[in-house]
Amino acid sequence: MPPEERRRPIHVLNNDTLVESPPYAAFVHASISRLRRAAPALNMPLYVAVASPEVDQTFWVNLIGRGYPSPNRQFRWCTDRMKIGPTNAYIRSQVDQSGSVVLLLGVRKDESANRAQSINRHTVEGHRLNPHSSLRGCFVFRPIVDLATDELWTFLLQSPPPWGGSHRDLVTLYRNASGGECPLVIDQEDAPSCGNNPSSRFGCWTCTVVEKDKSLQGLVDTGQDELQPLLDLRDWLRLIRNDLTLRDAERRNGAEGPGPFRLEVREEILKRLLDAQTLVGQPLITDAEVRRIRELWTSDFGRWAEKRQRTPTAERPQ
Ligand code: SF4
Repeated sequence: MPPEERRRPIHVLNNDTLVESPPYAAFVHASISRLRRAAPALNMPLYVAVASPEVDQTFWVNLIGRGYPSPNRQFRWCTDRMKIGPTNAYIRSQVDQSGSVVLLLGVRKDESANRAQSINRHTVEGHRLNPHSSLRGCFVFRPIVDLATDELWTFLLQSPPPWGGSHRDLVTLYRNASGGECPLVIDQEDAPSCGNNPSSRFGCWTCTVVEKDKSLQGLVDTGQDELQPLLDLRDWLRLIRNDLTLRDAERRNGAEGPGPFRLEVREEILKRLLDAQTLVGQPLITDAEVRRIRELWTSDFGRWAEKRQRTPTAERPQ
């Protein structure tokens, strides 16, 4: 297209859950900076945006502040809060401004049988643009839907990115993590990488939905030993999530059944997280999150302390 015809704004949207695997996060940040620097020279209205969860809804604030057990398949509270919500909010803001948007998704049928099924379900025969299942005014275009994985890597290896540099770092990152791809998740159905995909993918490093974090393990196995504390912490979080002795005896809404983690358990998780942060030498939690966690502790502790005063000692839940 000649420059004078490049009038449609193009938004490159990155979803940062704030618990991305550190090597993956470093790669993405570098790519975003490169893209931002190159945008003026590309002669098109290009915007690069990052969608992250609100402080009140991050992984740590829910786990340590509210005492949610870490996610599993039955209680996967994270995808909506950390991926779908922030991403959809950005897309909605663009629909509000422009009336409609075309969402380019890099999903491919070759990723898995489940992915192919989900793509087929959402495809209107004979149309290249398909209405998004829940976002009004958003039309989905999948430019590489029929590309095989090998073809994709071949293309990336042979074609430098238009914003400069090469795809070498990307290839190394994925090779070290033993392969796999990580899609932009905008729909619960589009999120198998968040839990049940057998191949290595970059999900959140804290993800306890999967049995093992294969990509992080792959990076440790290829010599990045400094990431071992993250694996250890994740494994421990997975271990304690079903230990009912660590949970309050009733749910937040007063219903019977295991409630949130007790306060001392939340303190222990925060302590271990801060220890891991020191060992890894990279920020794993922000000051704003720690402040919000302390506020939630104060409000929970106040409520429970009041309840304890009203409950005769012999009747207190152990
Ligand atoms: S990768 Fe795991 S922790 Fe992250 S949003 Fe998906 S299911 Fe949740």
